[in-house]
Amino acid sequence: MTKDFCLRGVAADGQLRFVAAQTTELCAEAQKRHHSYPVATAALGRLLTAALMLGANLKEGQQLTISINGGGPLGRLTVVTEENHSARGYVENPQIELPDRVPGKLNVGGAVGTDGFLQVTKDLGLKEPYTGSVSLVSGEIGDDIARYLTESEQTPAAVGLGVLVGEYGEVQAAGGYLIQLMPGATEETIATLEQNIASMAPISQLIAQGQSPQNLLAILLNGLPYEILAQDDLSFQCRCGHERLKNVLVSLGKEEIEDLLADQKEVEIVCRFCGEKYVFTPQDLTDLLADMEKGGDKEE
Ligand SMILES: [Zn+2]
Repeated sequence: MTKDFCLRGVAADGQLRFVAAQTTELCAEAQKRHHSYPVATAALGRLLTAALMLGANLKEGQQLTISINGGGPLGRLTVVTEENHSARGYVENPQIELPDRVPGKLNVGGAVGTDGFLQVTKDLGLKEPYTGSVSLVSGEIGDDIARYLTESEQTPAAVGLGVLVGEYGEVQAAGGYLIQLMPGATEETIATLEQNIASMAPISQLIAQGQSPQNLLAILLNGLPYEILAQDDLSFQCRCGHERLKNVLVSLGKEEIEDLLADQKEVEIVCRFCGEKYVFTPQDLTDLLADMEKGGDKEE
């Protein structure tokens, strides 16, 4: 299998900006880490793919978070991506089962739900992070991201996301595209793009056929001049660590930690973004309590 990557660039003399991505391996890694069932695997994989494409231009120290809470059986989904083109994420209930929408089509929309919002938070290293949110269109994620871009960022966009899950729950292929209309895009350019999208096969089908990001772009931008400006490797990566997970304990409060300590057992905390386990010994807890008493209002 080839490594995951994305291509980004401009088309029609800057009237369009595009990103196309192959995310098979990182979606497979997310599936393994969360032991997710197919519909959760597809939903989380689509959201990871979307976040990596939306965050393709992040600079050092910047981060983008997308959160969806649609009231469906999957519960909340959250993904975070950073400037190094890595993403991490989780779905609240990764092991639900739902009948297919039509045979062979996972019911992602039904699992996510439509009674809620998609929220994007961009921490660009400024004083306040930027947050935008829109109500969900279909819960299928691609449509919802497109609405967010149109309504919240005023850049109409076409978004396609696909994750193919195999018979045994494994990810076989994943990827997507994101094309944004820049101010000044002409009717003619828009018509060409719309025509290309209307005549192309469903994205999940193209991805299942093993179409590369290059191929997707050739189909989507057929008839328009375009230039690929960058290619970046993508990965599933978490920023957790023993030190960070300490904050989860701190947030439980002193009394809770004292209770845990009374048992004199090791405490295991699982990072919800990546499933990594961290063990805290009674000595760790004792030290932590001492720190908390000293520190008062400690900030990270
Ligand atoms: Zn983690």
